[in-house]
Amino acid sequence: MDIKIEQACPQCGAPIVIKETDRLLTCPYCEVKSFIRANGVFRYYLPPQQENKLDAPLLYVPYLRFKGSIFVVNEAGIGHKVMDTTQIGVDVPGLPPSLGIRPQVMPVKRLVPQTSDRYLSLAIKARAVLEKAIRLTPLRLEQKETVRKPVTYDGGELVYEFSTKVKTVEYSAHSRFLHRAFIGETVSFVYLPVARREDRLVDALTGNTLLRLEHPAEALPSAIPFKSSWQEKFTATLCPRCGESLAGEGDCLIMTCANCDTVWALGREKLEPVDWQMVPGDQGTVMYLGFWRLSGEIPALGIRSFADFIRRTNQPVLVRSSWERQKMSFWIPAFKLRPRVFLRVGRQATIGQWRLAPGSGHVTDSMYPVTLPASEARQSVKVILAASAAARKNIFPLLPKVRLEKTAIQLVYLPFVDKGHDWYQPQSGITVSKAVLRFGRRL
Ligand SMILES: [Zn+2]
Ligand SMILES: [Zn+2]
Repeated sequence: MDIKIEQACPQCGAPIVIKETDRLLTCPYCEVKSFIRANGVFRYYLPPQQENKLDAPLLYVPYLRFKGSIFVVNEAGIGHKVMDTTQIGVDVPGLPPSLGIRPQVMPVKRLVPQTSDRYLSLAIKARAVLEKAIRLTPLRLEQKETVRKPVTYDGGELVYEFSTKVKTVEYSAHSRFLHRAFIGETVSFVYLPVARREDRLVDALTGNTLLRLEHPAEALPSAIPFKSSWQEKFTATLCPRCGESLAGEGDCLIMTCANCDTVWALGREKLEPVDWQMVPGDQGTVMYLGFWRLSGEIPALGIRSFADFIRRTNQPVLVRSSWERQKMSFWIPAFKLRPRVFLRVGRQATIGQWRLAPGSGHVTDSMYPVTLPASEARQSVKVILAASAAARKNIFPLLPKVRLEKTAIQLVYLPFVDKGHDWYQPQSGITVSKAVLRFGRRL
């Protein structure tokens, strides 16, 4: 589900419609660029229909909006799914448990101060809302089963057709799991406006009665006025070092300065410099994709070097002596991908890291937007480790104890060449289909 947000330009006030994942706002009228920040989560509301707007002030009911990938590791394998949901955040029987497709039908608006309106506080913990959403749908398990089916009899031999099947595992919040992670998620509040009309609570969008209050004075959960901390903030997109204009697209979390070859991430308060490198490309290079390189040690598994990692995860390769001195790093895609591809690309880059020799680079306009922040890369370490394990029993049971220590993080851009339907990374052999990369922008 794609949610569109109507947002006023901080400079000229013009209404601009952006995507839910957009952080960089470019005004088509005054051309001013700014980064949008929130103190906590972003808050939106479904705009009430004018004809249903009542004299009485509106009451806004919070729904927790979650879109992102969830990964669950248990003995059977790695389960994953893309979750895309809005779930009610208060315990008031009679109100719709979810907003359904409504936020998709019309652009939602960013919450603005309204003097008379009131907002119900989230009465259910965000975690519990998520758990409920998880229970509603089973996870896909990345356990492949090879199915052998005889097709023809060719001379003396029976010819089989092999196909793989991805099994679906039933997973509930009560199931035992060794590790679970939410990755690349967008969490926000979408408020549904309701109005009190005598003894009824009315949906301010449709005018339909949602519930009857037995006693007119019946207490609803306490509601509060707009808090100033909910107001979004804007950051200018000028390079903090040289003052030039930074480059980036709507959903990027990282901006680049071609003037002084610096890379910037949106921090809590301001733009912060990112330590970055690049594997040099050649004439064939069409695009650079960013990977978060997270180096560190895992004492619980005795992993200190890349060689330790190769041995511990039982990779079917011969350990080279130089790998004993090579630091262990997890290479996490810095762009959103559907879960199955995210696991594969992370695993390929991590196992193939010995072929990659990054150094200092120059900012180019062929750098693909970074849409997965460093914080999410940190949360991906265990799932990429699990996905890399050739022998599960050596790794999976120890996952709860796994901690990456003495960590360092760096953004590394890898060169990709155009191979028709795919992007191909020559050193590591990673391929990412163009369609999958495009689709990732919608996650
Ligand atoms: Zn403007
Ligand atoms: Zn600069």
